[in-house]
Amino acid sequence: MNTDHYEILIVGAGISGAALAYELARYTDIKRIAVLEKYEKVAPLNTNGKANSQTIHFGDIETNYTVSKASITKKTAKMVEKYCLQHKLENEVIFSHQKMALGVGDREVEFMLERCEEFKELFPNLQVWDKTHLKTIEPKLVFDENGNERPETIVGIGSIGEWTTVDYGRMTETFIENAKKEPDTQVDLFLNTRVTDIRKLHEGGYQIETAGKHYFADSVVVNAGAHSLFLAHKMGYGLDFATLPMAGSFYMTNQKMLNGKVYMVQNPKLPFAALHGDPDILEHGLTRFGPTALVLPKLERYKPGTYLDFWKTLNFDANIVTIFYDLLKDSDIRNYIFRNFLFEVPYFNKRLFVKDARKIIPSLSVDDIHYAEGFGGVRPQVLDKKERKLMLGEASINTGEGVIFNMTPSPGATSCLGNAKRDVINLCSFLGKTFDLETFEHELVEENLTPSQIDEKLQARYVSEIRAEIHAHEEKHFQNINDGQKLPGYWDKPYSPWRHKRDH
Ligand SMILES: Cc1cc2nc3c(=O)[nH]c(=O)nc-3n(C[C@H](O)[C@H](O)[C@H](O)COP(=O)(O)OP(=O)(O)OC[C@H]3O[C@@H](n4cnc5c(N)ncnc54)[C@H](O)[C@@H]3O)c2cc1C
Repeated sequence: MNTDHYEILIVGAGISGAALAYELARYTDIKRIAVLEKYEKVAPLNTNGKANSQTIHFGDIETNYTVSKASITKKTAKMVEKYCLQHKLENEVIFSHQKMALGVGDREVEFMLERCEEFKELFPNLQVWDKTHLKTIEPKLVFDENGNERPETIVGIGSIGEWTTVDYGRMTETFIENAKKEPDTQVDLFLNTRVTDIRKLHEGGYQIETAGKHYFADSVVVNAGAHSLFLAHKMGYGLDFATLPMAGSFYMTNQKMLNGKVYMVQNPKLPFAALHGDPDILEHGLTRFGPTALVLPKLERYKPGTYLDFWKTLNFDANIVTIFYDLLKDSDIRNYIFRNFLFEVPYFNKRLFVKDARKIIPSLSVDDIHYAEGFGGVRPQVLDKKERKLMLGEASINTGEGVIFNMTPSPGATSCLGNAKRDVINLCSFLGKTFDLETFEHELVEENLTPSQIDEKLQARYVSEIRAEIHAHEEKHFQNINDGQKLPGYWDKPYSPWRHKRDH
């Protein structure tokens, strides 16, 4: 056989391409796999540990996830965890921090408590942390710059002792290393090899063109991030879709401020995750705040060029105008976009950003943070021209002819093994190969949840006491709201009396 002929050729050695190579090598009888990457190393772009938030998204602290969405996300997220544990990658690739979603103010607190009840079955380790408890585990959430307790009620709902954080760049390297170790399968990685074209051959299979030479394959999977759709369009596929590159930047604190991940309640109207604070595993635990969300007219961050590729992939027409018009006519989205633009403008950026981040750490000052130069990436959001809307999640074009194109905005790193499984099944069926589902499920699918270790009684008491305080507040001030008068400063009253009652 021609040495440049592969059964499957994967374009892109980010985490999606590498996870697919690993699953094909380990769980199928496919014998020859090639991975082509245009840069000099694997995971150079969005998968790199500096480009993303390093979070395994289970759906417990992401307040925009419904229970049904979280139950799917959790399954694929657990695959990441199981892979890392199977290969003994603890504290090299996968790390454990406490994590929580923080509710601030009455409405958010009530929302979080209700959400916790709804999600408890799916996430039995979820705990409710009131202000007093937060003082011990995440004190910066509670005190302002003068050392006083913040006036609003807050609640943290999260867990301790779970795997939360991944160096997705390093994980990608391990996928390739472990794929290459599989006996009876040849996995070839070609770096500095940019795919310029993919041609369908009359006699079957594909010719893949790069600057230096041609490769041949029975099937091709394009996991080229923002460039997947660019290559799909070149072949005449996915013309009803366009890519909207949403850049995400971060701000880094000058010293460690948080012990774990702190997410916020998300405005459901906004298409991107609310700002959060995370200990950065590549920066000795310094707190990284972000990401911001800015439309950027290029497909890759911190790399030259790709402006033209952006315009080609956007394929500007009246449908795009309609999508933008629909988005921009909503004032919440308009303000969000404008604010995120200002987060990139020197002088204004830090001042504005600190204002938002103070919702997490009330004492945060402009001198505590700096713009994290070299951090961040691009989320290739997909625009559906037929439906005239912005698609929020990932998108995959399976042509049914042996070529697949994947577009993977967040949480694409978390779902890499789940997405790869979907493609493995399709590829095996197309090529008449066998997928060893039993071994796959045994090694990568979570069977039983760990039993809850939490003191249920204490948790129930926290919930009912926080609720009682909110209800007392509503009763007291209901009249004023109805009268249209200004609501008296409920939070003028000290936060603590109800706690004294409970403690004594
Ligand atoms: C700011 C930000 C925060 C995020 N946070 C999280 C998070 O906390 N958790 C999470 O799960 N996800 C997160 N994500 C999403 C996650 O990073 C991506 O979904 C994931 O890395 C996508 O991996 P990928 O392999 O599909 O794409 P990429 O990592 O972009 O890799 C694509 C690869 O294809 C290569 N390539 C492109 N064109 C060609 C070509 N023509 N020939 C050869 N090679 C080519 C590129 O060089 C690149 O290596 C975040 C993303 C951003 C931007």
